[in-house]
Parts: sequence; structure tokens; C-alpha cells
Amino acid sequence: MSSDTRCLVAGNWKMNGLLDEAMAYVRELRENPAPEHVEIALMPPFTLLYPMSKPLSEKNVRLGAQSVYFEEKGAFTGSISPMMLRDAGCHYVILGHSERRDIIHEDNALILKKLQASWKAGLEPILCIGEHLEEREAGRTNEVLREQLSILEGVEGDKPLTVAYEPVWAIGTGKTATPEQVVETHAFVHEELARLGRDCRVLYGGSVNPGNAEALMACEGVEGALVGGASLKADSFMQIVEAAARAVG
Ligand code: PEP
Repeated sequence: MSSDTRCLVAGNWKMNGLLDEAMAYVRELRENPAPEHVEIALMPPFTLLYPMSKPLSEKNVRLGAQSVYFEEKGAFTGSISPMMLRDAGCHYVILGHSERRDIIHEDNALILKKLQASWKAGLEPILCIGEHLEEREAGRTNEVLREQLSILEGVEGDKPLTVAYEPVWAIGTGKTATPEQVVETHAFVHEELARLGRDCRVLYGGSVNPGNAEALMACEGVEGALVGGASLKADSFMQIVEAAARAVG
């Protein structure tokens, strides 16, 4: 995987996976599963990061975490620091996922602290943004995305960053945005990022599966996918990776 590979397919396992299952999954991956022009990453739960680190790096698959705390160390019971993630072999960390915004009530101020701390430790954040259904229906999608991206205002433009546009109504629901919605929204996100002085890749996420991946990833402005449910089985995840390769190939 070269650092100029724009297309990334990342699997977010959420709170799923035990050690035996994870090891069987890695065994199922081919020796070098990434086709040309596609980078692969997996985000298992914290407990699987270290055990998966070496077997994944041997297969050219990058490792990421699903969250992090912003402090370096100390009395923060239950928290994991960015440097601990680096120590466990992580390259990526997901920040701002809607499940953390909505369930754990993480706000922009906290996400910005996590972003800065992640960069300091040498991690590449995948910043998730997305609107709720009521917001889309009220014509407020761009306003919501602009507000979520506003944390990048005045922030160093040279730090590695990937953005994932994930309409909240499409996450884990089996509903996906239409290609028209995806093209239109990704164009807005790229425009907003350019205004903020950033040229970073923008993934699509929300019920991506082997059947819809190629059409979604062929959309203008989509540079890969953040995949939840369909990344839990190596076979369906690899079918998505292959679909991405066809779409960018
Ligand atoms: C996600 O968790 O980021 C996600 C997109 O989940 P799913 O693919 O299951 O909708």
C-alpha cells in the first residue's frame, strides 16, 4: 500500500469480535488482499488490536481503533490514549462516529481535542460526519456537515486526515443514499474541505455491502468506504474491497 493510494476500504467491527473469531478472519484473508489502488484497514475492538496487529501487517492490512481519549495518561479510568493505540500497532483512529456522537454524547469540542491528540501521537484520524434523517428532510444536510467540519477551522492543514461521510439514517439500517445524493453531498464535503485548506480523501459509509459497493464507490468524489456490518465476515468484506478496485480501476 503506498501512501498516495486514495481509495481506502475500512472495516469498523464496532463492539463485535472475540479472539478466536478474529484469528480465523485474518486467516481467511488472502496473503496480500489489497488489489492495486486500494488500501485496506480494519478497526476491531480495543481488546483485539494488539493480537491482530502483526498478522494484519503481514497481510498488508492497516489497523485502526474505533475511538480514543485525548489525554496522554493518568487517572482516566477506562480510557485509552493515542500513544497506547500507536503502541498496539494502530495507524488509524475513527473519530466523531455517529454512534459516539448520539449514544455517548461526544460533541465537536471533545472531537477536536481527540483529533489534536491523535495527530500528536502520529495517528491518522478518520473523521465521521453525517446528518440525521430529519435534518436531510428539512434540507439542512449541508448546514449540519459544515458545522461538523468546522472543527477543522484554523487547524493545521498538513496533518493526515480522512473524512467519512456517513448519513446517520443509512448506518446499520440497510438503507443507502442514492448515487445522486452521494455525488451531491460528496461534492459539498470536498468543497468545504477545500475552503478549510484541506485536500483529503472522503469515504462513504452507511450500509455498504457487496451488492451496492461498486455503484457507490464509482460515484464522483467517493474515495472508498467505511463498512460496518458487512465487514464482520472476511468474505463479504473482501467482496467490497474487490468492488472498490473495479470502481477505481
Ligand atoms: C459504520 O459503522 O460506520 C457503518 C457504516 O455501519 P454499517 O455499514 O453497518 O451501516
